[in-house]
Amino acid sequence: MNLEIKYWQKKTSLIDWDKKPKTIFEKKNNNKFEWYGDGRLNVAFNCLENKQNNNKIAIYFIDKNYNVHSYTFKQLSILVDKFAYIIKKNIKTKKKSNIIIHSSASIESAVSMLACAKLGYPHSVIFENLSSKSVLLRIQLLKPSLIITRADKKQFKKDIVPALEEYKDKNLTIFSFSNHLIKYSKVFNISIKQLEKINSTKTLYNSFKSNHVLFTLFTSGSTGIPKGIIHSSGGYLLYSKYTCIKQFGMNENTTVLTASDAGWINGHTYALYGPLSIGATTVLIEKPIILLNQKFLIKIINELNISILYLPVTLIRMLKSISQKNILKTESLKTLGSMGEPLAPSVGKWYSNFFNLKNKAIINTYFQTETAGIISSPKYNQTSNDAPHGCVGKPVNRFIKVKLISSLDNNQSKNKIIKISNLWPGCMIDVLNGLEQWKNYWDDLGRFNLFDLAKYDLKKNINIHGRIDDVINIRGHRIGSEEIESIILKNPNIAESCAVPILDKLEGNRIIIFLVLKNKKLINFDQINKLIFNYFGSYALPKKIYILSELPKTRSGKILRRLLKQIIENPKKNDYGDMSTIINPNIIKEVKKALIVNE
Ligand code: AMP
Repeated sequence: MNLEIKYWQKKTSLIDWDKKPKTIFEKKNNNKFEWYGDGRLNVAFNCLENKQNNNKIAIYFIDKNYNVHSYTFKQLSILVDKFAYIIKKNIKTKKKSNIIIHSSASIESAVSMLACAKLGYPHSVIFENLSSKSVLLRIQLLKPSLIITRADKKQFKKDIVPALEEYKDKNLTIFSFSNHLIKYSKVFNISIKQLEKINSTKTLYNSFKSNHVLFTLFTSGSTGIPKGIIHSSGGYLLYSKYTCIKQFGMNENTTVLTASDAGWINGHTYALYGPLSIGATTVLIEKPIILLNQKFLIKIINELNISILYLPVTLIRMLKSISQKNILKTESLKTLGSMGEPLAPSVGKWYSNFFNLKNKAIINTYFQTETAGIISSPKYNQTSNDAPHGCVGKPVNRFIKVKLISSLDNNQSKNKIIKISNLWPGCMIDVLNGLEQWKNYWDDLGRFNLFDLAKYDLKKNINIHGRIDDVINIRGHRIGSEEIESIILKNPNIAESCAVPILDKLEGNRIIIFLVLKNKKLINFDQINKLIFNYFGSYALPKKIYILSELPKTRSGKILRRLLKQIIENPKKNDYGDMSTIINPNIIKEVKKALIVNE
């Protein structure tokens, strides 16, 4: 057994197995593989049942009206047990088919996910507010036996009913957790309060093979059509727990607020499965945007004793843009994390100053839906000197062999393509209906391609500079979108920025910049040009700069650069392909108008 396999064998002790695995790793055809293949476990047992007599808080749920609801491990375990009982009683198929959970982060999504895990039904959490067309597409792909939704009456009628009428499956059952009574055939109305009162027999858990599917999750779709990424039970849970401990330093005394939607990978790994399996307290937040209310933010950090605050970069930028120069002093907060997008050093610096943690590293977590958990980030016990704000630190351990590889068309470029030359237990196990897509992830040498650009700093920390699709190539200089954007963000009057390439006959590409201004204060574009000129040189000067009220974003807060690029190329078009995950579709009109007016 080589050192790497021995290492991951040792880590099996992190998990409660019903049958401890003897086979640690097996490679199959088509770059497929199995971690802990002969091991058996139940994920819900690991998150709840082994702590079922624990009166410690497992979940604080902050609803959109700022109310905080708390659930101990014992209460949560009972709720999950009862919901599992109801699922079992009402589901019409015996097969362990998919269950769709249509909800933002909430106590209902957590109970549903854990009940599915307990029964061994793979779940797929889809974003609330997806259009009926996008809901239908996901139903057609997943062929679920059950849909669980928190949609209210209006939303149910608008987004779910048309999808159900089109899909027409006799065996499909629907559970509604809405506050309204939904009257529609096959809908079973239930609430958490009713669930608490239900008399049910204990639902015993079964154990499942390590590679049993725990969930399918669609990617954010910032660069293309969202893909359904499939994750295992054993490898996934082990890697979630392991990275919570190793990167964030989580333990039973931790309270973590991971401000992620349930339909995003962070909402699975670092808001639910990871923290609960450790016995930590997790704070779920229905609408992360309410954290922009600083009085409320400081109040919940203090009252809930939050020790780890883990925010999407987009929310950090918004907080920065509305904040005055004050510093929030809290007793409990020890660690800051950031997720989802590159963290510009100026924004990172502000974030750590604002929370009075300026000498500590920010756990800027680099990962994807496909990787399940962190591939590279600073660690909780590092300083900002070891891992400067903005970098994603070093790979989680020496067995995650991250390689930065020169692209063929430009060996000189400092920006490299980031790949991983071996496998880790959290790696996805399949892509929904997508063997061809699966094959795309691996190169001829069997290395996993993350499709991002990266560079090392002098201390060998990694800096991510955006997606390969967003690379800007001017006269042979390859610049990541993030590099330009983070330089622009040095201007204190700019809240958000986005750099997009357009084709140019002479130069290859030219840059178009979109800006969102802080406090709507007008700026002189010469200031932006000067920043870019000083850092890159004249070749990178933008062809045009546009001001927008906001940038188009996905529901997980990622800037939709692909959409901006498409609108620039054809501002008069009506259809820009799959827009299922855009959160602010109205912005499309504004971008088109800005481009046409300034043509
Ligand atoms: P998704 O899996 O769809 O949520 O998106 C994953 C992508 O988000 C990655 O491939 C990166 O492009 C980007 N990303 C995630 N975390 C970071 C980070 N810490 N820094 C820079 N980019 C990130």
